[in-house]
Amino acid sequence: MQPTELPRNRSQESQVSQPPHQTSEQTQSDSLVRQRRAMVEEQLLRRGITDQRVLQAMLSVPRERFVPDELVAVAYHDAAQVIGCDQTISQPFTVAFMMAAARLTGVEKVLEIGTGSGYGAAVLSRLADRVYTVERIEPLAEAARQRLSRLGYRNVEVVSGDGTAGLAEYAPWDAIVVTAAAHELPLAYKQQLACGGRIVIPVDDPSGAQTMYRYTRDGDTFQIDDLGKFAFVPLIGEYSSLPDRR
Ligand code: SAM
Repeated sequence: MQPTELPRNRSQESQVSQPPHQTSEQTQSDSLVRQRRAMVEEQLLRRGITDQRVLQAMLSVPRERFVPDELVAVAYHDAAQVIGCDQTISQPFTVAFMMAAARLTGVEKVLEIGTGSGYGAAVLSRLADRVYTVERIEPLAEAARQRLSRLGYRNVEVVSGDGTAGLAEYAPWDAIVVTAAAHELPLAYKQQLACGGRIVIPVDDPSGAQTMYRYTRDGDTFQIDDLGKFAFVPLIGEYSSLPDRR
């Protein structure tokens, strides 16, 4: 993509005058599009996300459709938002950072662990060929399934269940993106990763913080990159050290 395709900034946007017959729904929708462009420019580009495919994907997915109605006004704020069941939709920067770290080119089959609202899966669906996403909380999985279908994301499959076992029936995976913090990397993710594949996962560290890692498979060995500190809700399941006690 050429630089001219990048989002215009807020001041340029505010110079665009509205037609006199514009309805309040159109005005709200235009405002959300402006907020999405501003989010991409101010929260992503300025903080070093330069992968043009990731920026385009973040520009194309209507984040406001993935948050509860009462949070539409803050959907593009630089923060995670609550989505119910004590869970969150991740901060836009975190979503874009993980997608860029997964180094997708468009041909991949990707596993996401932690569907939540379905927003991350929608972004992934713009970056890869096929996306499977696993969510352990059934009401969230069902709501995300319906939302993604309603919005037309046809290359995403939402699976209900414990993602700490991976999803062996569709393996091997070109990339696995884990959106909840593991105590340690579940073995199944390594076993189910294709050669050359990437796992992007936040892992608890001894200080109580979490570090994002990328594991890249090279035969039977893995190159490990430390991608910095983040904050996530915990990964809870049979093959994580945080067992499901519901
Ligand atoms: N990607 C999500 C989005 O775009 O809205 C945000 C995910 S939220 C930060 C983490 C999600 O991981 C929660 O919905 C939580 O229920 C889910 N989760 C935690 N442990 C899990 C497990 N073992 N298997 C599947 N999902 C899990």
